[in-house]
Amino acid sequence: MNKLLMQPQPLHPLPYYDESLSGYLLRFSSENIVPPRFLYEKLDLFREKRQINSYFIDLDFLSDKDLKFLANITNNKTVDIFNMIIPKHKNLNIEFSGNLILHDDIEIIRAKVCPCCLSESEYFRKIWLLSNVTACPYHSVELMDSCIVCSEQISWRKGNIFLCRCGHRHKKSQAVLAVNVTVNFSEYVYSKCDLYNERLTFINKSDFIDCDLLTLNTMHRFLGREITTGLSMENKYKRGSITFSEYIQFQLNIIRILRLWPEGYRNFLDNLNLRIYSDLYYLEKSLIIFQSDGGNLKPLIEEYLLYVKPIKEKRAQEEEEKQKREVEEFERLIGILKDNEKELFLKRKTQGRLHIKEIGILIECQEWHIKFWIKKGLLENTAEDEFDDIVTLESFKKFKRTYITLKELQKKLNTSYSQLLRKDIIPVSGLKIDGGGMYLYRKNDIKVLLK
Ligand SMILES: [Zn+2]
Ligand SMILES: [Zn+2]
Repeated sequence: MNKLLMQPQPLHPLPYYDESLSGYLLRFSSENIVPPRFLYEKLDLFREKRQINSYFIDLDFLSDKDLKFLANITNNKTVDIFNMIIPKHKNLNIEFSGNLILHDDIEIIRAKVCPCCLSESEYFRKIWLLSNVTACPYHSVELMDSCIVCSEQISWRKGNIFLCRCGHRHKKSQAVLAVNVTVNFSEYVYSKCDLYNERLTFINKSDFIDCDLLTLNTMHRFLGREITTGLSMENKYKRGSITFSEYIQFQLNIIRILRLWPEGYRNFLDNLNLRIYSDLYYLEKSLIIFQSDGGNLKPLIEEYLLYVKPIKEKRAQEEEEKQKREVEEFERLIGILKDNEKELFLKRKTQGRLHIKEIGILIECQEWHIKFWIKKGLLENTAEDEFDDIVTLESFKKFKRTYITLKELQKKLNTSYSQLLRKDIIPVSGLKIDGGGMYLYRKNDIKVLLK
């Protein structure tokens, strides 16, 4: 057998225009009734790697010797063999049917097939390698990733692309009709690879985002991660933690986001409820990190920036109002202080310090209340001063951000210690808590009341 395999084989099927090399070699082996392992073992590629643990070699580097060997044995030209692989490009990109895409956009372990395409011509279309192609636009059916009879996964590791180990030929499988938008999405991806010439349903930007394949794939992966949290749905599928039909369900949500561009995306952002700083921060950060991995999220980033502009402006305005209130507060203080105290206060303030007497005026309490809070560690006394009576402006601000006295609270709400207690709101300090002279609440605890 080994010697025989160095010669051209009796049957030499012609490659199809959109056929994958690995698929072609499996088809070639099966037509000539040669175990594919025998054929692959002849490649330099596996002499180095020694073990054949996958029949997928479209992304591998084939030496000239290997190309020549394959051309000779299949009775093709070297260029025909070369045309079936996926060439590497500069940086992280690879070239896929005239598009630049990323390695990650391709599923290299599991394989999906369209049973209807197979029953017309039994060969493996390269485009089925793209992770986000889940339906066949020619037959409007879902691709399948496992045997319909015994449920075994179709995979490049097993090489069971056409024929399952149970003896079932995938081309004989009953196909499942795909949801319309999934088919429309596949039409769109096929058209990017020049494999679809019919009229597209998503023709213009208001039907669906208009972008190149690299951008589409990256957005698909990014959004797939955002809607499932944690790992991307591609990774979850690869690891087997979601099934192919669950993957298709998730994909429907992604298509919805990219449809009616940018309305669908804006609705998605609306649902995230980006009102607080950390939400904005995390989404923005993950957009930027994802973008730097070689893909392209430009449309998502640009629309995001337009979307959050008014939110950020509103936040900046709130910040400004807060500072204005602070200035007013200090002005009121200056009004109360005597001339000589005024001067001292201004001098200290430029040094970033406050006297507890001034704090007392600002939050309307006695000096001993403040000393009590300092002793308890509620107000940090970090001023490098030998006198305890000086507090930094920073720790005073922090204190104001974190706590509120019952007295201040009562200016906003008609409430009392016992009323708050009934709502399970307990102060951090006060007579019945620690013997303190004034009830002090954590602002976070009373947030619900202030809304
Ligand atoms: Zn098909
Ligand atoms: Zn089977």
